[in-house]
Amino acid sequence: MELLCAEILYKEPQLSAKDAEDIFVEIIARAKKLDPANARKWFDKLTLVHMSGGSIEIGCPDQATVQFLHDNSRGSFTRAAQQATGHLVGVDFTVDNRKHRDKFDTDWVKSELKLHPDYTFNNFVVGPSNRLAHASCVAVSRSLGQTYNPLFLYGSSGLGKTHLLQALCWEVRKDDKNAVIQLLSCEDFVNRFIRAIETGNLSGFQNRFRNVDALVIDDIQFLREREQSQEEFFHTFNTLYNSGKQIILSADSAPTDIPSLEDRLISRFNWGLVARIDPPSYDTRVAIVQKKAHLRGLEITDQVADYVARKVQANIRELEGALTNIYAVATTTGEPITLELAQTALEGQIAASTRHISITDIITAVTRHFDVRLADLQSKKRSQSIALPRQICMYLARQLTSHSLEEIGGHLGGRDHTTVMHACSKVEDKRSDDPKVHALLNELSQEITQRPAYKH
Ligand code: ADP
Ligand code: MG
Repeated sequence: MELLCAEILYKEPQLSAKDAEDIFVEIIARAKKLDPANARKWFDKLTLVHMSGGSIEIGCPDQATVQFLHDNSRGSFTRAAQQATGHLVGVDFTVDNRKHRDKFDTDWVKSELKLHPDYTFNNFVVGPSNRLAHASCVAVSRSLGQTYNPLFLYGSSGLGKTHLLQALCWEVRKDDKNAVIQLLSCEDFVNRFIRAIETGNLSGFQNRFRNVDALVIDDIQFLREREQSQEEFFHTFNTLYNSGKQIILSADSAPTDIPSLEDRLISRFNWGLVARIDPPSYDTRVAIVQKKAHLRGLEITDQVADYVARKVQANIRELEGALTNIYAVATTTGEPITLELAQTALEGQIAASTRHISITDIITAVTRHFDVRLADLQSKKRSQSIALPRQICMYLARQLTSHSLEEIGGHLGGRDHTTVMHACSKVEDKRSDDPKVHALLNELSQEITQRPAYKH
C-alpha cells in the first residue's frame, strides 16, 4: 500500500505514516466486511492519497474504479473509516496518478463512458452456452465495423449480456483511446431522445449518437411500443451503418421475438450476427463461482463451488448472490467457508440454527446503538428517534430469528403483524436507498450474530 507520507505528516503532525498506513489497512478490511456484495480483492491495491482534517482520499487506478466505488461503496468505506479512526471522517475516491501516471488518461475522465471494473473479458468465463457471443464480441472489439455489423446478443436476464458489452468497450478503449463509443441502456437512449424533443435540441442528440465509432445499446427490447423512438433509432442505425460504424445491441429475445417492433428494424437487426446466450452448463457454473470468489479474494473449496453450482442453475446474477450470502455468513460468524456453512447460508437458516438469537439479543443491541430504552420502543411514541430503532428491531428480528410477525410485534409493545410487515419493508427500502443504513444494518447483524449471548 503506497502512502504520500510527506502530505500526511505535514497535515497531521501527530499521525505518523505508519499509523496512517495501519489505519488505512484497517479501513479496507472493515469496508470489505461491511459490504460483502461489493468487496473485491483489488481493494488491497487501493492507495492512500491523503488523510487529514476529517477527510480521507483513496487512490484508484482509473476513473471507472473511482466511479464504481463512488456508486457502490462510499457508504461502507465511510463507515469503515469512522470505525477505524473513531472520528466522523469523510471518504472520497480519486484517480491516483502518482502511481498510475502511465495509465492515466484524461479523455477517459472526460468521457461519460461508465464501465464496471469487473466486466472485462478476463473475468468472463467462456463455455458452450456463451461461446459464440463471447467470440463475436472479441472479434468486433478488434475491428469495429469490419466483422459483424450489427452484432446482436440475446438471452434471458442474468446471463452476461451487459458484462460482454462492457468487456467489448473496455477492449476497444484499451487499444484505441480515441475511439468514440456510446454505451447506454435503451431506456437511457429513449429518455434522452424525449428530453431532446422537449428542449428542442434534437440535433444535439443526433450529433451525439451518429458521430461515433461504436454505438452500444443494452436491452434494446425497451424500444417496443415506442414508435417515435423506433423511428429515431431507425435513422440512427442507417446513418451509422452506411458510414461503416459499429452497432452492438443486446436484448432479452431474438429480434423476431421482440413484440411490437417494426419489421424494418427486425430485418436490420438480422443483417449482421445474432448470437444467443443460453443458461450455463454445470461446468461453466462451477468455473464462474470460482472466478467470482477469486475476484472477492475468497478461498472456496471445490466442494463448495460444486454445491453452489448445483444449487443455483438458471441465472448467474443469483450465483453471485449466493456467494455473497456465504461470504456474509462467514464474516459474521468468523468461521471458514465449509460445505456446512455454505449449506446453512443458502438455506437462509444461519441465524436460527447456528446461534440461538433471541429478540431480546436484537433489542439489546439496537437500544444500545441508538441509546433508547426498551420502554420507549414498546410505547406508543412515534417520533423518528424512537420509530426508527423500533422498525430496525422488527426488521432484524425477521431476518435473524424464526419468530412470526405476531411474536415480533408482541415483543415490541403488542403491535400487530401488519405493522411489523410495514416496518420491515420500510427498513428494506431504506437499506437499498441509503448506503449508511445498509452498513449500519450489517454492523448490527454482525454484532448480534457474533456475540453468542448478551448479558441481559
Ligand atoms: P444480463 O445483462 O444478461 O442480464 P449481466 O451481464 O448483468 O446479465 O450478468 C449478471 C452477472 O453475472 C454479472 O455480475 C456478470 O458478471 C455475471 N456473469 C454472467 N455471465 C458470466 C460469465 N460467463 N462469466 C463470469 N461472470 C458472468
Ligand atoms: Mg443487462
